Amino acid sequence: MLQLQNLSKSYHVGDTITHALDDVSISFRKQEFVAVLGPSGSGKTTLLNVIGGLDRYDRGDLIINGKSTQDFSDTDWDAYRNNSVGFVFQNYNLISHLSIIANVELGMNLSGIPAKQRNERAMDALTKVGLKDQVNKRPSQLSGGQMQRVAIARALANNPDILLCDEPTGALDSQTSEQIMQLIKELSKERLVIMVTHNQEIAQKYATRIVNFKDGKILNDSRPYEQTEQEDTFKLKRTKMSYWNAIKLSFTNIMSKKGRTALTAFAASIGIISIAVVLAISNGFQKQIDMTMSKSLAKYPVIINESISDVNAVTSQQSSSDKMAKNHGYIKAEKDKMAQSLHVNKITPQYTKYINKMNPDDANNISYQRGTNLNLLTKNNHKIERVIFSPNDTHNAQNSDAVRAQAINFTGVGTSVFPTTLNTNKQTFLKQNYQLLSGSWPKKPTDLVMVADNQNTVNINCLKNLGYNLKIGDKVNFKRLLGKKFKIVNNDNYYEKTPTGLFVPKPADQEMYHSNGITLHLKAVIRPKDENSMSLLADGIAYSDELAKQIIKANQNSEIVKAQKKSKHNVLNGQTVNSYGRKRVIESLGGVSLPTGFMIYPNDFKAKDRVLDYLNNWNAGKPKEERIIYSDMSSAVTSMTGGIINGITYVLIAFAAIALITSMIMIGILTYTSVLERTKEIGVLKALGARKKDITRVFDAETFILGIFSGVLGVTIAYLLSFPINSVFVKVTGLANVAQPNPLHILILIIVSTILTLIGGHIPARIAAKKDAAIALRSE
Ligand code: ADP
Ligand code: MG
Repeated sequence: MLQLQNLSKSYHVGDTITHALDDVSISFRKQEFVAVLGPSGSGKTTLLNVIGGLDRYDRGDLIINGKSTQDFSDTDWDAYRNNSVGFVFQNYNLISHLSIIANVELGMNLSGIPAKQRNERAMDALTKVGLKDQVNKRPSQLSGGQMQRVAIARALANNPDILLCDEPTGALDSQTSEQIMQLIKELSKERLVIMVTHNQEIAQKYATRIVNFKDGKILNDSRPYEQTEQEDTFKLKRTKMSYWNAIKLSFTNIMSKKGRTALTAFAASIGIISIAVVLAISNGFQKQIDMTMSKSLAKYPVIINESISDVNAVTSQQSSSDKMAKNHGYIKAEKDKMAQSLHVNKITPQYTKYINKMNPDDANNISYQRGTNLNLLTKNNHKIERVIFSPNDTHNAQNSDAVRAQAINFTGVGTSVFPTTLNTNKQTFLKQNYQLLSGSWPKKPTDLVMVADNQNTVNINCLKNLGYNLKIGDKVNFKRLLGKKFKIVNNDNYYEKTPTGLFVPKPADQEMYHSNGITLHLKAVIRPKDENSMSLLADGIAYSDELAKQIIKANQNSEIVKAQKKSKHNVLNGQTVNSYGRKRVIESLGGVSLPTGFMIYPNDFKAKDRVLDYLNNWNAGKPKEERIIYSDMSSAVTSMTGGIINGITYVLIAFAAIALITSMIMIGILTYTSVLERTKEIGVLKALGARKKDITRVFDAETFILGIFSGVLGVTIAYLLSFPINSVFVKVTGLANVAQPNPLHILILIIVSTILTLIGGHIPARIAAKKDAAIALRSE
């Protein structure tokens, strides 16, 4: 069954060559108890290791069941050890962190036997060696004899054809030795047992055949066996350790040194902690910034006014004046510098269309500047009253432009036009920024809203204008406001021409109230949504641009507008006006259909860039006078802060990454230590038929567990740290919730930590796999 032909093996250490096996030829029967006797250092262990496939021979051949092993691959040897050979060592070689039963099951793990069957067979083997009742103990809780029984049970569990025992009683007292020998003798009835010993007495008492060995050579053989040519009946089942078994094996190992594992995991997690904290803070800051930015976007829309001071023009002017001119002996008269830089935006119907075609995904809300006044009437206790919003302000052409740039869509004290929402499937500007105190959101162009501030107050003058007779501090119930009716009267019914050619408002009476016009209803009372968001609309009455357009449509061809278009005087007060002033008056009378400006509210900061691109596209290739120049007040505030935060984050992450790499190296060192510590285990696993891959897997599994553990630990600590960090930030900066761990970041970090530790531990794991099994088992 087993045949050694001229087998040689020598060890080279420095210049000395040891011939551990020197041309050994011997055959063994299928069933016999062979004792190999010989002095220490004669090569007995080497012989057993070579027979068992733990060590390789240099020359000759080992023939198993008629098959030469000369062409055996590593995996063939692994399978051979697992299927056909059981090893029993002098020092037992049990794995200390596994229970007795787990030690016995180990070989079967490698041959992929199902758990239930594994357990049954291990129990059988342990019963056979008389240790049925000790299965859950650890090796360290057993006596030497008991440990050797476990080792025998482990060797038996896979029911091998060959049992190889290397001085099995060498460490036992004589009584225990007798018992172990009885056991081995019993086992030899069913298989080939080759036992190495230097104890002649034992050999003679139990063995059926004694081979004397010296200096790597057989001296004599008490019962030689002549092997006849045998046909090849060799068959092997490949071994393979599942990932799950590798993880279980490493897990018990890790659990056997909890303290050290916890410390290492903590050290390894510091990298993760620092990155997690940096990311959480940057995440929180980013959110804060996004919030402030979107608020400032609402506060500072992209504005297109009728005229704008062109910054570029000023700077180009300056740069040209930077170069000193020569003294020509004269000075030159030149235009006012500010006037030079003043750019007039000529807003055309085409441009208005272009703005209206803005992608709602970039900017969904646009407000239009029109400067139209309302000929507004209301009924108060059956008395018709004019609702006047300081007409002086709106008719003052010199001021109106500047005033409008400050207060959004300022058309008079107490009225404003709210932005038009392009895509009404999305939230409207009002719903986005305002909170409904009472009533319902406006649906029709004739629906008005009353805008309060965040203290629920409205300017008393505005309320008085609307016909409420109030003192400061008076409370106006929503019921008195909601549903209030107003009337907008067309110019032709509102003004009358006096003999002097001037136009004056007619008395506000029932006749005027019931003449042609538009009836409006106050539908809602609203206020800013955020406590700290400033009111975007002036408090008072707000209405839609749709209404403004209706008013313009009704008044465009009214008498007063026609008259004003022809006159060089203000038709309302007779003062002379320039063309610019005249245009303003016509506008206020509803005589201009095009808006004089726009305010564009980008949806978010990225969208703002696209909006600016869109606006710039209009100007591409156009001469300077035809360009439309916008002002973007939010740009200065925002781009800077975002950039700084990004920069700081990158620097911090770089530092944290160094910590992470340190962690990785630590894991590598730990795995390497573990490899050194578990050398014997590696040898045992190999003796049981583990492949190199399986060994790598065991150690990879260990780092995998450590990686996940330290990742989870790191993220948890980082999460806990976010509380003190936040309270510090609140104290120092007043910003709440700065550290905000992002769940996605957390998941990624755990994965990164696991991958990094796997990488860090993989090299030592490969070193472990390459360990020579024979040397590993000799190590103590
Ligand atoms: P025994 O088991 O009979 O005591 P061994 O088989 O262990 O003898 O060793 C036989 C010889 O080979 C000894 O001289 C020993 O020193 C040598 N030897 C064994 N293993 C190695 C090794 N890994 N490297 C070098 N020499 C070795
Ligand atoms: Mg030996």
